[in-house]
Amino acid sequence: MSHPFPTAPEPSTQASCPRHPGIEATGICQRCGNFICDTCRRRGRDGRSYCEPCLSKALPALASRTDRFWAHLVDSAIVFVPTLLFLVIPIITARSFRAGEGEEQDLDIFLPLSLFFAFVVPVTLQLVVMARTGQSLGKRWRGIRVVRMNGQPISLVRLALLRNLLPVWLSQVTCVFGLIDTFFIFRDDHRCLHDHLADTQVIKVESDEPLRPY
Ligand SMILES: [Zn+2]
Ligand SMILES: [Zn+2]
Repeated sequence: MSHPFPTAPEPSTQASCPRHPGIEATGICQRCGNFICDTCRRRGRDGRSYCEPCLSKALPALASRTDRFWAHLVDSAIVFVPTLLFLVIPIITARSFRAGEGEEQDLDIFLPLSLFFAFVVPVTLQLVVMARTGQSLGKRWRGIRVVRMNGQPISLVRLALLRNLLPVWLSQVTCVFGLIDTFFIFRDDHRCLHDHLADTQVIKVESDEPLRPY
């Protein structure tokens, strides 16, 4: 519907975009603080607005899928290998050689010791390293690190509960969670489903960047 009394456009009191003079700015770059218009506005992975030159500098490079795969493999081996050595093989051996005589008592005696070496030692080792550096042993090896979407360090509680235990539990109760979780890595932001649950991303750590205590 046209206005019955058309008036001349009023001069704008808004700031204009430095790259497009005459066009009103609609936001401010979160890194350099310059005004940006809709054409210049780029949305970062953190959901905030940046100008084009700042976009790549403001956000650290994402960890490659290859690095994440190898880090995951090493972290899985750190749990899997001790379980095999201290729990699975001793149980199988004990059952084969001592079937019949005092089997239950033998298992009762060595089970707590096996559980200690199979679970407590590797998990404690990982937690201590993660508490100090924010990296699991696998991620430390590949030079990558988990951070929050705003770039801040992730707390150990969030890392353990939301990023590790919750996905494990969801995989147990729903058959498909693990599969969907893995396939999410092929999206542009390289974020698995467990990254979305914990509001995290995995980034590259620059070689000259000191390992910051968390
Ligand atoms: Zn900028
Ligand atoms: Zn512009």
